[in-house]
Amino acid sequence: MNRDGARKSAWQQQIKNFSSANNLTEIFDVAIVGGGITGVSTAFNLQKRGKSCILLEASNIGFGTTGGTTAHINDFFETTFDKAISDFGQENAELFKECGSEAVRIIESNVRENNIDCDFEKKTAHLFALDENQVKQLEDIVEGSHKVGHRMRYIDDISYPIPFLKAVEIPNQAQFHPIKYIKALCEIYLNSGGVIVENCVCESHDEKDSLIILTTSKGPVQARNVVYATHIPPGINRLHFMNAPYRSYAMAFTLNHDQYPNELGYDLEDPYHYYRTQYINGEQMLIAGGEDHKTGHAEDTGACFSKLENYVRTYFDVDKVAFSWSSQYFEPVDGFPYIGVLPGSEGKIFTATGFAGNGMTLGSIASRIISDLILTGSSKYEEIFSPARIKPIAGFTDFVKEQATVVVDFVKDKIFAERIGSLAEINGGEAKVIKYEGDNFAIYKETSGRMHLLKSTCPHAKCEVRWNSAEISWDCPCHGSRFNINGKMLTGPSVKGLTPVQEKEITEEDGI
Ligand SMILES: Cc1cc2nc3c(=O)[nH]c(=O)nc-3n(C[C@H](O)[C@H](O)[C@H](O)COP(=O)(O)OP(=O)(O)OC[C@H]3O[C@@H](n4cnc5c(N)ncnc54)[C@H](O)[C@@H]3O)c2cc1C
Repeated sequence: MNRDGARKSAWQQQIKNFSSANNLTEIFDVAIVGGGITGVSTAFNLQKRGKSCILLEASNIGFGTTGGTTAHINDFFETTFDKAISDFGQENAELFKECGSEAVRIIESNVRENNIDCDFEKKTAHLFALDENQVKQLEDIVEGSHKVGHRMRYIDDISYPIPFLKAVEIPNQAQFHPIKYIKALCEIYLNSGGVIVENCVCESHDEKDSLIILTTSKGPVQARNVVYATHIPPGINRLHFMNAPYRSYAMAFTLNHDQYPNELGYDLEDPYHYYRTQYINGEQMLIAGGEDHKTGHAEDTGACFSKLENYVRTYFDVDKVAFSWSSQYFEPVDGFPYIGVLPGSEGKIFTATGFAGNGMTLGSIASRIISDLILTGSSKYEEIFSPARIKPIAGFTDFVKEQATVVVDFVKDKIFAERIGSLAEINGGEAKVIKYEGDNFAIYKETSGRMHLLKSTCPHAKCEVRWNSAEISWDCPCHGSRFNINGKMLTGPSVKGLTPVQEKEITEEDGI
């Protein structure tokens, strides 16, 4: 199985090719675009509830962030309940809490009812404060949690060899192998008549009366409803300005002893570290994550792994690093995900985005919310997660900040490109953006000397891409579209790749 990055994640070996149809002429009840946890869970759920579904995936099932996650299953969120109360009110915060427990139950019942072998385990979590500021933060989190009826209990010891000042335990969390899970859901979905088409990029849609016609790289697909489960919807949409793309880093370590922590673990650093364990190929491993930054905002993405590794080695007796990978998530400006009708559509196109680091639960609850909206026309969560919501107080400052960052990125990139020196300065394994006769170019030179030349302007909203050395990709800092060294789209919202430049268009003889 492939992933949208050059590094192998701990989950990658577990999947086969799923495409089940080439004839796309049928009119489907629902076309689901995107084969991550959100799309697969939605297709599985709707097919089970009697709808005829087609699942379209640009690459392969699990290619996106679901193949690069760490798969903690939590009923509490990065948007803490105290923040939810202050920004959305007591009632909405309680509903937010309810959606967390419902999502955990959805995953657990899918696993148990279908005997899915995906290393699913119920877990307790330890959340710990490392300094006085974090202690205050933890106390606020616990107070907010109790106000919405969520259980957190102060404890004296944690199962992590990390000095802490205060800690709580949170029962009823879980973990699993995300790819084994969605692979099993795909198999059941196929057996119940669902259709999967891989290597099929959905480029646009056209709403005509009661039908939606999708233009895809494999021809038109017609459906009565469409679900964009693409992590962020493709094309240009207001949701691109309400979500900021971030990159997070994960590493799997073996230890020199067998005292692996049994609980899920989180500190309250900014960005925070997250921990769990997992057997991979029969070997127990500690998976640690962190070092998050806004996409395109780290000069040297490779250095993020060194920082994470050094941090983990400070506290754990590490034997070796078995896997290291990174992936992208979308941070919503007001802290709640966007799940429901796609803004600007006529009501039959749905989407789910803004999951931050909680997409296992939020992607799972999205599958239920969207299924309910399609089948019954309503969901108890439709208002709090509505993609059309406008919250003038919650998130407004963040919204302005994120918007400002986009503009600064754009201007800085232009200046940066002006300053770039000559092509000859690029060493093997390096990449640069240069300006040449009014155009910007993204150049990557392989260690063999072979050059890959692309126009560096992202086709989505015309921002300039930046090099990600850790995953060997060009990443757009504005909305998170990503491309490989040949320009192929790896991650939306773009639906097109970067334009390759014929080598003869730029040569060293041109003197750049
Ligand atoms: C390092 C890291 C660790 C994380 N750890 C956790 C965790 O422990 N717990 C947790 O709950 N969450 C975690 N998250 C977040 C979580 O992994 C994501 O929110 C979740 O995987 C998103 O799933 P998805 O199905 O919505 O999107 P994806 O998994 O990204 O799937 C979207 C799919 O859509 C396809 N696609 C895109 N555009 C098109 C198109 N135009 N046509 C056809 N197909 C298209 C893509 O190829 C992709 O396969 C983590 C995130 C990161 C980055």
